[in-house]
Amino acid sequence: MTIRIISALAAAAFLAQPAAQAQGAGQAAFRWPDGARAAVSLSYDDSLDSQLDTALPTLDKYGLKASFYLELSGQSVGRRMAAWRAAAVRGHELGNHSLFHQCSGSLPGHQWVRPERDLDTLSVAQMAAQVRLGNTMLAAIDGRRERTYTVPCGDTMALAPGGRASYLPAIAGEFVAMKTAGGQAVTPSMGGLDPYAVTVLAPEGLSGKQLIALVREAGERGTMVNFTFHGVGGDYLVTSAEAHEELVRYLAENRKTYWTDTFLNIMTYVKKQK
Ligand SMILES: [Zn+2]
Repeated sequence: MTIRIISALAAAAFLAQPAAQAQGAGQAAFRWPDGARAAVSLSYDDSLDSQLDTALPTLDKYGLKASFYLELSGQSVGRRMAAWRAAAVRGHELGNHSLFHQCSGSLPGHQWVRPERDLDTLSVAQMAAQVRLGNTMLAAIDGRRERTYTVPCGDTMALAPGGRASYLPAIAGEFVAMKTAGGQAVTPSMGGLDPYAVTVLAPEGLSGKQLIALVREAGERGTMVNFTFHGVGGDYLVTSAEAHEELVRYLAENRKTYWTDTFLNIMTYVKKQK
């Protein structure tokens, strides 16, 4: 009887322990550096002129670092390489956004995908080889070896033996972290975050106040917020120069509360904590 009671208590304690530990770990688990409440990744996709002309000068004026995901075949990479290189020298990240920005032409709304750039016609091995070449090209521009990736359009399925498969597992080892899907700016929990499946929001036409509200939400959750801008004051998927500067100014004025840095630096820190 006594033995049965003791063993029952022991079993209860055994069952209770992992849950209690998990709860404690969840609460105390994640701390951003220097008491910051959240991390903020400002990212800019597709190597657009308005990013060099408008977004970068604003970031530099307020002293914040960001990530620029270059489409390496993009005109501005060849034409304005010195400007991209100078951005890297000033501490910004040049990220990989593939050579040709391949997206799946067969998906709804993707009629704009040109046949020679259609991910549907590429194999996993071909796409992976191109992404690796992208890293070599980026290293030739900025001299760095550690990098992050943003998936064009969030489309991942390429040709594979027996059908189709995601090309992401074939390239994950080349990167510190990857942004793989759109729609969600604020990371729900750091404990559940997969560094190779980080979600982002690609804002279009949001006001400075709307962007700042997302930063505050990340602060309340103690997590991170990922913005993937395209045009800033021009080009396409435009955020106005004013809204962008309002956000950057707010982040600069609250830099102790919100840690704004390159996605590479943020995710290097996140992976060390895990
Ligand atoms: Zn893109």
